[in-house]
Amino acid sequence: MEILLKALVILVFVLSGVAFLFKFSKELMDAVGIATYGLVRLSKAHRSTLEQWNPFYKNLEGPGRKQFDRRVKEILYEKDWVGKGIAVTWEMKVRIAGAMAQVTFGFDDLLLLHFKRIFILPGEFTNPRTGQRQVGEVIAGRGAIVLSWANFEQGYAKPDDAHNVGLHEMAHALWLGNGIDTGEDHFMDAATLQHWQELAQGEIDRINDHAGHYFRKYAGTNQAEFFAVAVEYFFEQPVAFKEALPEVYGCLSRLLRQDPAAKVETSLQAALQPLVGDR
Ligand SMILES: [Zn+2]
Repeated sequence: MEILLKALVILVFVLSGVAFLFKFSKELMDAVGIATYGLVRLSKAHRSTLEQWNPFYKNLEGPGRKQFDRRVKEILYEKDWVGKGIAVTWEMKVRIAGAMAQVTFGFDDLLLLHFKRIFILPGEFTNPRTGQRQVGEVIAGRGAIVLSWANFEQGYAKPDDAHNVGLHEMAHALWLGNGIDTGEDHFMDAATLQHWQELAQGEIDRINDHAGHYFRKYAGTNQAEFFAVAVEYFFEQPVAFKEALPEVYGCLSRLLRQDPAAKVETSLQAALQPLVGDR
């Protein structure tokens, strides 16, 4: 009888242990993951994927690259990656995480926590709510960023045409994320944001009045689209953007805490240096 009782106690103990592990395994794995991803480098294969496909990454110097690697690792780890009609590969994850790291590079620890899920579709899709064909969208209510993989690839295939759906959707997530309470919200400077909205409204009006304007017409849709399109130009045509709209460029540069045009100008000067010396 006593043995039976002992066996029963052990059984209850083991079962509650299993139940505990089952219930908290995700949290345990998360804790282990968070502790280890700081120690392990982004793999060589992932680094060469970024080098091949992300010109922003390719142009970074040593410390910047290390920082970018860390950001990509964190994003890879933190997001849930879901394929719809397509198998999600590491290449897709690394390249999409790269787009997010690029847009958020000025904010060291920003993970856009509200947007936990990244949905990847093979190509253009129909939005069930609007019936419209789309190449990407950000759904704040579901905490989701949705991307057509074919169009994501096209965006980076021509890195200087100011069309990049990856950067565009990440910009939407950044814009919305600034106002959603997650503990990392309000990361954009409030006064700069206010100034940005005034400048943006001026440009939106010019675009819709068919007056001379620099951005493509879609930027005139509303403030959110203006911001997302501006981010595409910011990374893909920084020097031309700065020349065409210096005040708007300067404000966006302060808002995102980075300056891609200055980088291009510095590397151009460096490239010209030996020519000057030879004269
Ligand atoms: Zn948009």
